[in-house]
Amino acid sequence: MILIDDKSACCDCGACASVCPKKCIDLRADDEGFLYPRADEKSCIKCGLCEKVCPLLHRPTRHSVAGVYGLKNKDEEVRLTSSSGGCFTLLAQAVLKRGGCVYGAVLDEELTVRHIRIDSENELPRLRGSKYVQSLLGDCFKETAALLKEGKTVLFSGTPCQIAGLKGFLRRPYDGLYTVDVVCHGVPSPAVYRKHLKEIAAKAGEPVTAVRFRSKENGWKNGRTLFYTAHHCFGDTKRREPYMRLFLNSVCTRPSCSDCAFNDRRSLADLTIADYWGIDKQFPDFDDDKGVTLTIINTEKGQALFDAIEKNAEILVTDFAKGARYNLAVAASMPVHPARRQFFENLNEHSLEEWAALLLDKKENEGSEGNK
Ligand SMILES: Cc1cc2nc3c(=O)[nH]c(=O)nc-3n(C[C@H](O)[C@H](O)[C@H](O)COP(=O)(O)OP(=O)(O)OC[C@H]3O[C@@H](n4cnc5c(N)ncnc54)[C@H](O)[C@@H]3O)c2cc1C
Ligand code: SF4
Ligand code: SF4
Ligand code: SF4
Repeated sequence: MILIDDKSACCDCGACASVCPKKCIDLRADDEGFLYPRADEKSCIKCGLCEKVCPLLHRPTRHSVAGVYGLKNKDEEVRLTSSSGGCFTLLAQAVLKRGGCVYGAVLDEELTVRHIRIDSENELPRLRGSKYVQSLLGDCFKETAALLKEGKTVLFSGTPCQIAGLKGFLRRPYDGLYTVDVVCHGVPSPAVYRKHLKEIAAKAGEPVTAVRFRSKENGWKNGRTLFYTAHHCFGDTKRREPYMRLFLNSVCTRPSCSDCAFNDRRSLADLTIADYWGIDKQFPDFDDDKGVTLTIINTEKGQALFDAIEKNAEILVTDFAKGARYNLAVAASMPVHPARRQFFENLNEHSLEEWAALLLDKKENEGSEGNK
């Protein structure tokens, strides 16, 4: 039976809760707002399945990569509304055209970040773009298994630990399954995100109705995080916006993220996508400040899907070392900020704006910039 003594040993993939035959595992939020499994000992039959599927009890080893590319979606509108070069949309379109479906993270009506399934291109804009909050997976793993058993094609997208959790849960390969993960330096607490939405609503005198984590109106490299109410828009560049500063400096990220088991060529997904930071230094002619996706091909299946989207993209060939050169999270975990505990233990003593001013000096903030 899964018991979490050390919080860094659980990434909230939910595989254990999804697999339990007695449905005796609940995912519950701790004081920091992160979900952890809690098993009901009385109902547990000690089958050991939860431990068998847990990706942090069976950490992957490093593999070689089949190819590394810089990619720009030829559709400018899609690229401008994607976080980097719009690779994800091309992968999703390819699978939808084959009659498949796609899982990914959206902001729902309450602005909660959760995974959903889409079956048509009309719904694709909701999945597009990064949402910097840990997403709720709900029953997505179980649904995916059922669809794959029916012979359906599924593209599942998420953080590397979510893909590892899905693979653990499925326990066997499926021809119809394609997976793509994002390079991930961590996920912030949903409780910290909710606090920020409340503080902005109080300032505006009306609720937040929309969030854009990566607006490119001022360019990709100088992207802004924006919070909209009916009559106002709050936000700033990721260097100055308090929520993003606390996230990028690992003040409010999950404990498991400081020793992530899935970076540095340990992804279990077919493809891994990221921002190609440093493209302006390495391939200046390719950079127009509208976004480039660093695309890492991990498997033959990933290569086949990439080949299918190639005609709709501008592509350059690069390599892993170049891709990781200006993007720390590609090959390393981010250590937690020394004031993380102080922050969570006294969260409600200050607004996020005050916390960012108190904990992050200018130097630290600039230091994290190579990463996003
Ligand atoms: C929490 C998080 C941390 C990240 N950290 C880094 C980093 O350190 N360095 C870096 O280069 N890139 C990072 N990324 C990835 C980056 O932001 C882009 O998602 C990536 O470059 C792909 O962009 P795209 O333009 O090809 O597609 P986009 O359309 O921008 O990609 C959207 C994809 O992201 C998925 N997604 C969005 N939000 C979430 C979420 N909360 N949980 C799970 N999946 C989500 C969607 O399901 C979809 O597959 C991170 C993404 C997330 C979600
Ligand atoms: S050991 Fe089996 S029954 Fe018990 S919690 Fe784990 S999966 Fe559920
Ligand atoms: S990492 Fe996933 S499978 Fe392991 S304990 Fe946490 S939620 Fe369960
Ligand atoms: S850093 Fe690693 S453990 Fe944390 S959310 Fe990302 S993939 Fe999961």
